[in-house]
Amino acid sequence: MALINEHYLKLTKNYLFADIAKKVNAFKATHPKADVISLGIGDVTQPLCPAVIEAMHKAVDDMAAKETFRGYGPEQGYMFLREAIVKNDFLPRGVHIDPSEIFVNDGAKSDTGNIGELVRWDNSFGVTDPIYPVYIDSNVMCGRAGTLVGGRWSNVTYMPCTEENNFVPQIPDRRVDIIYLCYPNNPTGTVISRDELRKWVNYALRNDTLILYDAAYEAYIQDPDIPHSIYEIKGARKVAIEFRSYSKTAGFTGVRCGYTVVPKELTACSMDGSERYPLNEMWLRRQSTKFNGTSYISQRAAEATYTPEGKAQVRAVIDYYMGNARLMREALAGLGLKVYGGENAPYLWVKTPGGADSWQFFEQMLYGAQVVCTPGVGFGPSGEGFVRLTAFGDRDDCLEAMRRISEWTSK
Ligand SMILES: *Cc1c(COP(=O)(O)O)cnc(C)c1O
Repeated sequence: MALINEHYLKLTKNYLFADIAKKVNAFKATHPKADVISLGIGDVTQPLCPAVIEAMHKAVDDMAAKETFRGYGPEQGYMFLREAIVKNDFLPRGVHIDPSEIFVNDGAKSDTGNIGELVRWDNSFGVTDPIYPVYIDSNVMCGRAGTLVGGRWSNVTYMPCTEENNFVPQIPDRRVDIIYLCYPNNPTGTVISRDELRKWVNYALRNDTLILYDAAYEAYIQDPDIPHSIYEIKGARKVAIEFRSYSKTAGFTGVRCGYTVVPKELTACSMDGSERYPLNEMWLRRQSTKFNGTSYISQRAAEATYTPEGKAQVRAVIDYYMGNARLMREALAGLGLKVYGGENAPYLWVKTPGGADSWQFFEQMLYGAQVVCTPGVGFGPSGEGFVRLTAFGDRDDCLEAMRRISEWTSK
């Protein structure tokens, strides 16, 4: 008899975006002529840039000839990509990462979801709230999150990011074994300053805390003073794992490629506290056992984002999305709505007016303006009273959505 992992039964039944789709479909069924614009789901809309497409075509041709065909690749990813990462993503910021510290993967969701295997199920962990649901759900699956009581997991330390604290989470007043941070943040679109990030690194050094730092949106940072990598902070190599992805940076949500940095100095403790073990070796062992690499074609595609043409083309698409963010910010603020984020991230975090809750405002906007947003409460208890809008749409759709919201709110 196979017994199930009963922790799965604790997961909340419905996935946020499935709930949204259900409500949108209900609207469409009663309003068949309505043209609904989605600024809800966090997926990109613009095609891959020409340099990437060219590299992928060439990689396909490599696979077609005996001399250049590739089978299984190196476990941590091809050296051509890991060297390009070191040289382009870290060295210019004064950060020295060795290629052996980089693990190329099929996107950041897999590794942010799987990394918890390296540490015991009974570690404590904390998340900023609201947050990308993967961090919590992956911990629920192994029992680390405890049980759900009134919308909160019993073993999770929530660090609220609210208007009151200007979306700067307070450092816990007690020790927590593992902390997830995501900056620029999904869903709030807010960023962390160098000084604030330094506080976290120092907290982790003092408390022997492991920081899991998700930098999937670092390419959207506009302000030169905002750190792109946690390793820009002294001491971070001892305490932090960083996740990066080409998904939002270069439109790879369908291609699949990202990477994780596990520094050699990063260790965790044995149960009796007598010995420390390097997580880099453990993650290599884990990946060699359970992962057989990202496709050669995807890795060549990722490499192409670092060529001069690739960089310029990727930048142009990011600028396009950030142009959307700017026009959305201005339009919504002009209507008297309170808007956060959208300056260094492709997300806008909008306060629901008139005391409506997240789902109420979601429905009001769907029925009033035929625009879909994401209810903030879907990202955690502190998301209540907000909705998330993404800047990943087509420019024309963004403009039309803003026009409709303006018309609707002036009624
Ligand atoms: C989109 C996103 C990712 C990237 O996911 P991929 O698996 O790389 O496509 C990672 N973290 C956050 C917070 C995201 O929003």
